[in-house]
Amino acid sequence: MEAARRFRAVGGTHLFLATQNYEPGTPRSVDDYRRQFETTEALARRVHEESGVTVYPVIAPYPIDLVAAGRAIGLGPALEVHRASLDLAGQWVRERRAVALGEVGRAHFPVSEAEAGAIESAFRHAFEVARDVGCPLVVHSADLDAAGFAELNERAREAGLAPEKVVKHYARERRTVTELRGIAPSYVARRELVNAVVSDPAPWFLETDFLDDPRRPGAVLDLETVPRRARAIAERADGSPDRLFVPFVESVERVYGWRPECPEGTVP
Ligand SMILES: [Zn+2]
Repeated sequence: MEAARRFRAVGGTHLFLATQNYEPGTPRSVDDYRRQFETTEALARRVHEESGVTVYPVIAPYPIDLVAAGRAIGLGPALEVHRASLDLAGQWVRERRAVALGEVGRAHFPVSEAEAGAIESAFRHAFEVARDVGCPLVVHSADLDAAGFAELNERAREAGLAPEKVVKHYARERRTVTELRGIAPSYVARRELVNAVVSDPAPWFLETDFLDDPRRPGAVLDLETVPRRARAIAERADGSPDRLFVPFVESVERVYGWRPECPEGTVP
């Protein structure tokens, strides 16, 4: 709530809120994930009520949960829970309780062959659910080069999901339109990177990956960073303020299929 207030105070109006594990221990059942999604939904509602910020929940079982859950209950049962929880997340998107499936994807650190196999199988299922629901997929993975984006594009098309519905979250390097192959990068809002991509065509997003973990202070950018960067761009004389339309409106429209609105009186 404090972070959302800081975000609002510097001009932020809309947030995508990805679910995370709020309880000690990894979820081991669909009910564990349902409870987690309900916490995300409640947090989204509270942020909206108390700060006026519009919040879009993004939900899915976190892919890396499969590693710990597999060690606790066996990889087979853990994968079953994971797939069923992806189905639940898809159902929530259908019911408009969330706007996308995420984070889904792969481990960004080495895992065993069996674990990697289960994670791949879950990732494939995430594409299928997104295709059936017709919603975006927010992908967590290691940094991707051009071949990595090509592979994501191929995987989406194999599953029958438009690559334009896939967001690579936590992109740390600028990629050209040719390299991206239709995938939307969500760039970490470091100043140099924002300046490098600000003239690129849609779709691309800015993010902080903010999480409020007292054990890892400063591990990610603060939630205020994106509105602060936007303000810096808007104050330039070189025409770049128009470019803010790309990450904040046009890209949302292209990937999510709707235009974020600002209720009257909320635009700073
Ligand atoms: Zn992530």
